Amino acid sequence: MTTEAQSRSDALVFFGASGDLAYKKIFPALDALIRRGKLEVPIVGVAKSGWTREQLLARAKDSLIANKCFNEVSFQKLSAQLRYVDSDYHESATFDRIRSELGAAARPLHYLAIPPSMFPTVASRLHEAGLAANARVVVEKPFGRDLASARVLNETLHQFFPEEAIFRIDHYLGKETVQNILYFRFANAFLEPILNRQYVENVQITMAESFGVRGRGKFYEETGVIRDVIQNHLLQIVSYLAMEAPSSTYAEAIRDEQSKVLRTVRPMSVENMVRGQFNGYLKEPGVASDSHVATYAALRMFVDSWRWEGVPFIVRAGKSLAATCTEVMVEFKNPPQVVFKEPAPSMGNYLRFRLSPDVVIALGARAKQPGEKMFGSPVELSVVEEPEQGTAGRMEAYERLLGDAMAGDATLFARQDVVEAAWAIVDPVIHGPSPMFSYEPGTWGPKEADRLVADVGGWNPLL
Ligand code: NDP
Repeated sequence: MTTEAQSRSDALVFFGASGDLAYKKIFPALDALIRRGKLEVPIVGVAKSGWTREQLLARAKDSLIANKCFNEVSFQKLSAQLRYVDSDYHESATFDRIRSELGAAARPLHYLAIPPSMFPTVASRLHEAGLAANARVVVEKPFGRDLASARVLNETLHQFFPEEAIFRIDHYLGKETVQNILYFRFANAFLEPILNRQYVENVQITMAESFGVRGRGKFYEETGVIRDVIQNHLLQIVSYLAMEAPSSTYAEAIRDEQSKVLRTVRPMSVENMVRGQFNGYLKEPGVASDSHVATYAALRMFVDSWRWEGVPFIVRAGKSLAATCTEVMVEFKNPPQVVFKEPAPSMGNYLRFRLSPDVVIALGARAKQPGEKMFGSPVELSVVEEPEQGTAGRMEAYERLLGDAMAGDATLFARQDVVEAAWAIVDPVIHGPSPMFSYEPGTWGPKEADRLVADVGGWNPLL
């Protein structure tokens, strides 16, 4: 029997050490893991920038200072553990050098924080160098551009790594708030009997960003909103909201249910989607002057299951919108008869998960106002309410995910069938032509999207 210590990765190799993601997320995650005593293994950074190890350390220090988490003691530990290989990913000599930096380590974790076009090259070179055996590999998003390319990428990776050694990052799953959807649903008996087509009117999920593409126009041109956040982050949320109870917290039990429910989501059609582009996008650096890339999309989805038949799941995401927030609202049906006329029964009963920037789990209800008359008003019972940052014990998503991958826990990583099921939902609308509507920055997107919620009383207001 394999003990936990035996199955832990005994070294971390991260490709893309000079990149943007390393600067923004990976160095702070390494630092946090070191502080918690969870990363006492060799760390090898790999990049092709022509840097020295000292330059990489300076970059790491800058990153920690910029992320407001620099601490001299943990930085000294990171410096002692960090090695650096500066070389071309196409050359086998690079991988020989990585092997020699790894020393006695026999079960490394390879984190590919590099452009996805490089995943096959690096995976095959790792295999040729004998670095894939007993190893794990973490791959960054996006995982493919559509269903066909995701399948090809899966087949390629499977030539070198078994599925249980592949950890596909969707950092949304690493967020405490997203895990809380799963926990809150299945840890409480009161909710489960009413989370179904008998009681739920509709589900709305909004991921709004008040900023544009922040200089990453070239990247965004390749991606667009559906590939960037809907196929991965928002469909993961749909799966947590809609899935049946897993038999345990065992990774495969949860991922089995995610896969099952995503396979019951009807593939999208153009009629159930509205795409938009904010005015000004075409002037962003790296954006084509005639670009048809969507910066906003609203999709009306249906989960064809016994539990959810006929309940619309309306998902919208966009850039340059009126606010930055991510929220899930499960709206319940009105009581069967109107006994009390005030306030109007619409929008009274709901379950709300605010995922960012603050964290809220709340139940919306109607309660009587003091006085002679049977008049009421909407009230909200907050179950959890806290700022997203700064709560004791809370881990940043990348710290959580890297730590889990090192320990071999795949629960919060996307499994092959889950990724492919999610692509199958959006595949019909990412290739074919569909109308594009413009919208002003600072608004809630194109007015045309209102038709998707016309029969459910409109968009839920975001507080
Ligand atoms: P970068 O463009 O900053 O590049 C990352 C690394 O890849 C760099 O070390 C760079 O090396 C190397 N690289 C770039 N192009 C090539 C090439 N053609 N051949 C060999 N090496 C190359 O990417 P990010 O750090 O932004 O992203 C890395 C991964 O993380 C991608 O898969 C991305 O989709 C994903 N991701 C990024 C996010 C972000 O906010 N940045 C968010 C979520 C996911 P060098 O600089 O030495 O040339």
